[in-house]
Amino acid sequence: MNEMCKYHPGRKAVVRCYRCNAPLCRECIAYQDGDKYYCKKCFDYILKQEYKREIDEIKRETRRKQLLALLVIIGLLLITLEIYSINKNKAYLQKTYRISPKDLVIKQNIKSLVKYITLGENLVKYKEKYGKYPNKLYELILKYPKIDTIDIITNEGFMYEKKGDGFVLSMPENGSRKEKIRVTRDNRYFENLKNNR
Ligand SMILES: [Zn+2]
Ligand SMILES: [Zn+2]
Repeated sequence: MNEMCKYHPGRKAVVRCYRCNAPLCRECIAYQDGDKYYCKKCFDYILKQEYKREIDEIKRETRRKQLLALLVIIGLLLITLEIYSINKNKAYLQKTYRISPKDLVIKQNIKSLVKYITLGENLVKYKEKYGKYPNKLYELILKYPKIDTIDIITNEGFMYEKKGDGFVLSMPENGSRKEKIRVTRDNRYFENLKNNR
């Protein structure tokens, strides 16, 4: 090279700066990358750019991590909510289930018994009014059409039998209950003959 160094006019240049093309003497080569040479100004600039790039990269990485953390938190929150709602539903179903079938059976049984006893009481009323028990249940219904003689559990009629001066009233044959009401001639007592047919 026949040029002089840009920064030392008395010295011969040996290379050109790869970036600004300035002729440089040996002393003015700030950085060498393979066959590329850089002056101090350009090297500082590159360092600054590199630094900026690194800072930007760090910022981007931080944002990525923050976003990821946020997504993880949202995910966990959704999973928690889902588990909570499943458990709530399960608890609700268990609660409903716990209350429903057993209580329903009890309710049905009580209704059935009330109907049964009401029928017995109405038979006694019939006797008080007409002086004797009806021979068949339909005679009672003819006088009192509103009286229901059908058991709600089995959907079958209660069984009535006139016996001597009293009667025996039984739950339907297919029902699980085996009660009988036996009324004696003086109408004073209802006898529950459970399991004693
Ligand atoms: Zn340069
Ligand atoms: Zn120089």
